[in-house]
Amino acid sequence: KYPVRLDKLIAHLTGITRSQCKQLLRAGAATINGEPCRDGAHHVKEQDSVLWQGEALRSSSPLYLLLHKPAGYVSSTTDSEHLSALHLVDASLRSRLHIAGRLDVDTTGALLLTDDGDWSHRVTSPRHQKSKTYLVTLARPIREEELLPLRQGIMLHGEENATLPAEAVWLSDHQVRLTICEGRYHQVKRMFAAIGNHVSALHREQVGSLTLEGLQAGQWRHLTPAEVATF
Ligand code: URA
Repeated sequence: KYPVRLDKLIAHLTGITRSQCKQLLRAGAATINGEPCRDGAHHVKEQDSVLWQGEALRSSSPLYLLLHKPAGYVSSTTDSEHLSALHLVDASLRSRLHIAGRLDVDTTGALLLTDDGDWSHRVTSPRHQKSKTYLVTLARPIREEELLPLRQGIMLHGEENATLPAEAVWLSDHQVRLTICEGRYHQVKRMFAAIGNHVSALHREQVGSLTLEGLQAGQWRHLTPAEVATF
């Protein structure tokens, strides 16, 4: 709904009345891209950074997004070489969000973004882990029987406990669909390294019950309340 009047945007996102808003604007409560703005009729563009009383403007309802992450974006907030996946989301939302459950820079697929800390804690906590399904492309050919250790649980280098039993479906000489319920560091790549192979491409197809249906790489959508509640 951009561009939008500044006073309308503030009233909408903070719940204060237009007249309260006008007063506070005159007192200098808003800045746009670092410059004070006292004019409620000023039109705010989507890429503008609006601060209200020193903080990013935010609506009171929490956000839950599913993003189809392309390769080349990192899941951390900053990186000197790569853009954060957060940059694929509108500037007005980006400042509020963090990523719940990381993907490597070269991994593509389903990524969850939110500003609800309790929810992202649940999503990433080892105790509540939902299943995650990956389409794994391998550098070396693989036979069906080589997947057995992954199905049983396998020791990863430098760790004390074997991985939980995974579901591994052999698709072809170079592709496996793997479903795991943990999220250890580089887990999928390390699981295939542990059986003497090498992951050349990794795509997360599904997190819990969420698939990427309808989302091209780089696109995102809001989760429905019912989807939010599945975590
Ligand atoms: N496992 C990995 O090795 N990398 C990812 O990005 C996700 C799971």
